Amino acid sequence: MSDMLTYDEYKALAADIQLPSLAYINGEFRPAASGKTFASTNPATGAHLADIAACNADDVNVAVSAAREAFEDGRWSKLHPNERKAILLKLCDLVEANAHELAVMESLDSGKPITDCETIDIPEFVHTLKWHAELVDKIYDQTAPVGSDAMSMIVREPIGVVGAVLPWNFPLLMLAWKMAPCLAAGCTLVLKPAAQTTLTTLKIAELAAEAGVPAGVFNVVSGSGREVGEPIGLHMDVDMVTFTGSTATGRRFLNYAAESNLKKVVLELGGKNPCIVLDDAERLDEVAEQVCAAAFWNMGENCSAGSRLIVQEGIKDELLERIKHFAKDWTVGDPLNPENALGAMVDKGHFTKVASYLDLAREEGYDIVLGGDTSEGCYIQPTVVAGVNNSDKIAQEEIFGPILSVISVKDYDEAIAVANDTEYGLAASVFTANARKSLRAAQAVRAGTVTVNCFGEGDITTPFGGYKQSGFGGRDNSIHAHDQYTELKTIWVDLSEG
Ligand code: NAP
Ligand code: MG
Repeated sequence: MSDMLTYDEYKALAADIQLPSLAYINGEFRPAASGKTFASTNPATGAHLADIAACNADDVNVAVSAAREAFEDGRWSKLHPNERKAILLKLCDLVEANAHELAVMESLDSGKPITDCETIDIPEFVHTLKWHAELVDKIYDQTAPVGSDAMSMIVREPIGVVGAVLPWNFPLLMLAWKMAPCLAAGCTLVLKPAAQTTLTTLKIAELAAEAGVPAGVFNVVSGSGREVGEPIGLHMDVDMVTFTGSTATGRRFLNYAAESNLKKVVLELGGKNPCIVLDDAERLDEVAEQVCAAAFWNMGENCSAGSRLIVQEGIKDELLERIKHFAKDWTVGDPLNPENALGAMVDKGHFTKVASYLDLAREEGYDIVLGGDTSEGCYIQPTVVAGVNNSDKIAQEEIFGPILSVISVKDYDEAIAVANDTEYGLAASVFTANARKSLRAAQAVRAGTVTVNCFGEGDITTPFGGYKQSGFGGRDNSIHAHDQYTELKTIWVDLSEG
């Protein structure tokens, strides 16, 4: 990981930075076929950053044809695993060499704090890509126990042309979660970043070309969900779509697949994740720190944000005092200032939506224990709202902002019932000193990841994804992610004599 620069150095870099604006299709940077563009804006300042190619179905068709040709002629899918690995590892080196520039670009475009970009997003991008690249020449296929008169092989083959449609909350990281296993498996990719956060994906395309990823293998089609996402979803020649975003949009991709070629669909969707704190939880300061991180990290723009604190009555007041204390560390302000832990919400529209929940909290007369304020520059203070019932709107809807709802419960059983009383099932945390209870809770909560005495998402070695309406069809990360970009083929060979 690169060392951090100073605030002044980041400002100087931001003032000078060259921002990409063209789509990347079949190995070329090009404008949209229609010639249209859309503006990329810095949410913290309102400054115009770039006019980016606004592609549509025509550009998607060109990109899918290029990806198909590249897949079929084997320039990537049939490359020796060692060579695919070497190219992806070269890309890791180039990302590291360009870390400051990528970090500034990410921060300017999304409002994310520069410290997170430098210490989390970029190192994790590299780590994810490296992990899957290293896997390429270490996976073995299987033979089946079919007796001595035959031999049967079960082999994995790359699934083909993959469409990926991404959200804006972790632009580089979500890109890595998709492109790393997809390219490692030997597929070709047609990818649409979220319109709000396209810049770093285009920069990665430039670095991928420099690393030696052949033309047609990695295509970035910039534009809106309607103009680019939908044609990818409906395309007859896309073999699989991997999507991360809201549950509402994810649902559309199942319709697109049903209406077109029954492409495989993998969805990573929203969450309304519980943090359960039982009254025997130890080291309350650490619990409070973890609860704050769960609720406020990345401005709460996090699918696995712990946005519901489900706390046993006996410990509630003490825990809230400590949360108030540690929330002071979550300073909000200019994303380029390394001192700030939180930056701006991603855009004005999302800022307004999150702020409407603050209005709701006041109208409903909840106890606003902390925060509740907004300021110019799409900034929202970390906010804690107590006295919430789990059935209330604020506890059921994914806000995607730094707003924590506090729900008191009498006992363990009520805590589990409340935790599960949601349409989502992405992640959950439980804090207790009782090992038996912690494991019972881990079994009882219907969520893809359950962390005990900490908040987190596991790491690259563990699958990440959701139960219920938080996901569909697969998991990101770990070897499971790699597998979902492959098809299984059975090859049966007759060995009988005579
Ligand atoms: P979103 O509105 O669903 O957008 C996600 C992507 O879908 C964007 O690229 C968007 O394009 C595109 N899209 C929008 N409408 C479409 C349509 N009709 N057809 C095809 N594509 C369409 O979600 P978001 O607001 O960007 O992201 C936040 C959501 O992502 C939250 O719900 C969060 O929980 C979820 N998320 C989940 C995970 C996970 O791993 N489970 C991780 C991160 C985020 P535009 O460019 O037009 O917006
Ligand atoms: Mg932007």
